[in-house]
Amino acid sequence: MRRKIVAGNWKMNKTLAEGMELISEIAASPASSEVLKIIACPFIHIPGAVQELKALHGFAIAAQNCSEHASGAYTGEISAAMIASTGATHVIIGHSERRQYFNETAAVLTQKVNHALANNLVPIFCIGENQEERNSNQHLEVVKKQLKETLYHLAPADFSRLIIAYEPIWAIGTGLTATSHQAQGMHNFIRSEINKKYGKEISENTSVLYGGSCNAENAKELFSCMDVDGGLVGGASLKATDFINIINSFTVSPTE
Ligand code: PEP
Repeated sequence: MRRKIVAGNWKMNKTLAEGMELISEIAASPASSEVLKIIACPFIHIPGAVQELKALHGFAIAAQNCSEHASGAYTGEISAAMIASTGATHVIIGHSERRQYFNETAAVLTQKVNHALANNLVPIFCIGENQEERNSNQHLEVVKKQLKETLYHLAPADFSRLIIAYEPIWAIGTGLTATSHQAQGMHNFIRSEINKKYGKEISENTSVLYGGSCNAENAKELFSCMDVDGGLVGGASLKATDFINIINSFTVSPTE
C-alpha cells in the first residue's frame, strides 16, 4: 500500500517567530492519522519544527534544498548531512523554481539526490513540464527525460526510497490547477515509466504527489485519482486551516 502524503512547501516565507507560530497551529489541529504530513520549511525553522512535532504521530520535517557537495568551502550552502543532523528526514530536490532561478541542471540534481540518499534523507523529487511543452504535447517526453536523466542511475533499493512530485510549472503559484483527468493521466504515465525501469513492485509502491495550486477546494477531487498519492502544496500550506483541510481531504476511495 502506498503512503498518502501531503507536504507543505513554505518556500521563502515566514520569519522565525511566524514560522514557529504556524508549526504550533498545525500541531494543535486534528489532522488525519492516515496521512504522512511533511513540512518543508526554511532551514531556520527546521530544528524548532522537529522539536515541536517529534512527539506527534505522522509528521516529518523536510528541507527545501540541499547542496550538491558533501562539505567544504561553499559559503551559504547547507549539506545533506547537516540537514539530517537536525532530525529532518526529507528534502525537496529539483523544484522548478530551483531549476529555473538557480540553474540546477540534471547533473547537479543527480549529485543532490545521491547526497540525500547517502545521508538517509528521503528526496521528494520534482518533475513537470512548462506551458509551452504542455501546449505542444511534449509533456510526457519532458517528464520521462527528467526521470531518466537524474534518477535512473539509482539501484532499485535506492529508487524505492524516493517520493516523486509531479508539478506542472504552469500550475505552480498561478491558480491554474491540472484537472483530475490531466493529473491522473500524468501520474499513471509516471508510474508506468517507473514500472518499465524498476518493475511492478517498486512502481506500485512509489508515492507520486501532485503539486500546482492545490488547495482545500480542489484537493479532494485530485486525491481521489487512483495514481495521485497526495500533494506538494505551496501557497495553501502557509495557513494552518488550509493545510489541515487539504490533509483531511483524503476521505474517499481512489477512482480511476
Ligand atoms: C510548490 O511550490 O511546490 C507549489 C505547488 O506551489 P503552489 O501550491 O503555490 O502552486
